[in-house]
Amino acid sequence: MTRLRAGCGTISGYHRHRRAGEQACEACKEAWAIYGYDRTMVRSRALSRLARENPERFGELMKQEAKAFAAEQKLLDGPDE
Ligand SMILES: [Zn+2]
Repeated sequence: MTRLRAGCGTISGYHRHRRAGEQACEACKEAWAIYGYDRTMVRSRALSRLARENPERFGELMKQEAKAFAAEQKLLDGPDE
């Protein structure tokens, strides 16, 4: 098991483990999980707000990203047979 060090249980602690090429300790894994969860929630709320406050621009971006995503998927699937 990975030894606890100063800064463990923080995002920078998590990155330090990864840079050192080692498994993050439980405290750092937990900090990373909470950070990821929080960021996802905050991002989701910001996107909902953007859609409400600027629906036209948001609609344009959705269409553009849908087209880009479809093009990427075709590239990933390889050429048509
Ligand atoms: Zn740690």
